[in-house]
This record gives sequence, structure tokens and C-alpha cells, in this order.
Amino acid sequence: MSSEFGDFHRGRRLRRSPGIRALVRESELRPADLVMPYFVVETDDAAFRKPIGSMPGQFQLSLAELEKQVGAAVKNGLAAVLLFGIPKEKDELGSQAYADEGIVQEAVRRLKDRFPQLTVITDVCLCEYTSHGHCGMVRKDGAILNDPTLELLAKSALSHVRAGADMVAPSDMMDGRVLAIRDALDEHGFSDVPLMSYAVKYASAYYGPFREAAESTPKFGDRKTHQMDPANWREALREGQADLDEGADILMVKPGLPYLDIVRLLRDSFDAPIAVYNVSGEYSMVKAAAQNGWIDEERVVLETLTGFKRAGADIILSYHTEDALRWLNK
Ligand SMILES: [Zn+2]
Repeated sequence: MSSEFGDFHRGRRLRRSPGIRALVRESELRPADLVMPYFVVETDDAAFRKPIGSMPGQFQLSLAELEKQVGAAVKNGLAAVLLFGIPKEKDELGSQAYADEGIVQEAVRRLKDRFPQLTVITDVCLCEYTSHGHCGMVRKDGAILNDPTLELLAKSALSHVRAGADMVAPSDMMDGRVLAIRDALDEHGFSDVPLMSYAVKYASAYYGPFREAAESTPKFGDRKTHQMDPANWREALREGQADLDEGADILMVKPGLPYLDIVRLLRDSFDAPIAVYNVSGEYSMVKAAAQNGWIDEERVVLETLTGFKRAGADIILSYHTEDALRWLNK
């Protein structure tokens, strides 16, 4: 029926009731979409559990505490984790990154033993393990050496997979690392282990709180020579294509919120699954505002995570995961 103003679009018809809204909903956030990142610390103190000041609700955890924390989340439907390790000793070459008894390798063994159904993904990089805090080998003048770093990254990934990791996720942004890791895994009989590449990783200020959490702040310089310029989008296509050509199974965009256009671009350009990393700074901003009573945390978080799905992400890595699972289960 037309009104006295004539005929016009009546979009409100499909928003009238929760039932109708559910029928026409286009994107849905599922527990299975979410991956929770954890920081595990090599320590003799089995009860070690240190709050990360800039990331309220997040902790550095001993192996035993990690197991407890993950156990509680698994009961709520947690399906996948991403592990970062913090070693006791750091050195120039980040040797604990590829030590068979390293902290991440131990954490993988422990979680897979305790929760066989849980998908355990490991972050592959050197910056948590190097004394200088850079993602690769560093020359005397401070330059980060690409090709010599590849072998160390491949060794790291291989050691994670040998420990039982279900998937590896290189985050270093060295050129050729996907190829180097894929080759190493294939040569050693792990051709069935998938590789999620931090393919499109921007040199972002949103990583600030993470560096406190992972103790990976560079002692000098920055990461602008290997991470992408936030102003670029065509470059994201070149990086994504290169990583697929080298053997990546999943492409990740990082950070998330300021780069939703890039998520959509990759979704529309490639058939591979797309992941997005809702990074520490994004998390901390929401937490800070929520603690001040300025926003409704639950609604803001679920809206944000749903936004990633709408933009085309299949997988969401987020520090909100444990909370979101609780809210989704309500
Ligand atoms: Zn790194």
C-alpha cells in the first residue's frame, strides 16, 4: 500500500521482529570461527600468571596455568589457539625459537596431549627470542637480513610441527619465508600440515600492547623495512598472491579494524580462506573504554567480530575470544 507520499521502499518490514531479523541475517559469528592467542612463559614457577597491564584480562602464563586457562575455554567451546612463547634466555639468533625443548614446543605437546581435539596453531617468528627483538638476523649496521633468516624460520616451524602443532603461522614478513617453511615441512614428511601466512601485515601502531605481552619490542629501529605501509592496498594483492604461489593455505590480514577494506579485497580476489587478526591495540581500546563505562563491551565486541565476518573473514584471531564464546553461548 502506498502512503500519501507515494510508493517507497519499506526496509523496516524485514526488521520487525527478532525472528524475521534472524531469517534475513547475512553474516553470522560462530564459535568455530574464533582463535584465541596465548602467551606462554618459560619459568620454574608453575603458578606463574602475570597480568599484561596494557591488555586487561590477558596474562603471561606458565605451562600449567596455560593448561588451566585453555581447559576452561575449551569447556566454553574454544576450538583453536595461537601460541606465542617467551623464553628464559634470548640470544642474537633466537635459538630458543627452534629448540626442540623450547617453551612453545613444550606448550604444543602439553595442549595436544591434554586436548587432542583443539587446533593448536603456532606463531613462527624470531622477535620473542632474539636479544635485539627483531624478527630476523641483524647485520652490524642494524639491517635485517632476509635470506639467512629463512633457514631459522623454517627450523622453527619444523620444530613446532614435530611437537604436534596442527598449523604454523609465520608472522615475520621476510620475503620467501612461506616457500622456505613449506619446503622444510614437505621434506620432513609434513606435507599435510597447513600454513597460515601473515601475508598482509602492516607496520602498525596497534601492536603496541602486544610488545609488552610478548616482550618483543625492538631494541633499536622499527619494522618498517619488512612490514607494509598502512597507506597501501595494491601491495596487499601482491603479497597475498606471492604467499599463495609459495604454498600458503590461508592468508591473514593484520591488524583488523583499520583494514577491513583489505579483508574484503582479499576475499574478493582470492579463493583461499581469509583470516584477520584483531590485534592488541584494538582489544585494549575496547577494554579501556569499557572499564570507564563508556561503551557496552559485550555489544561492541560482538559487533566488531561480526564486522570481520561481514567483511569476508573466515577466521578471526582475537583476544576477545574467551569472552565472546561465553556471550555466544548465552
Ligand atoms: Zn616478529
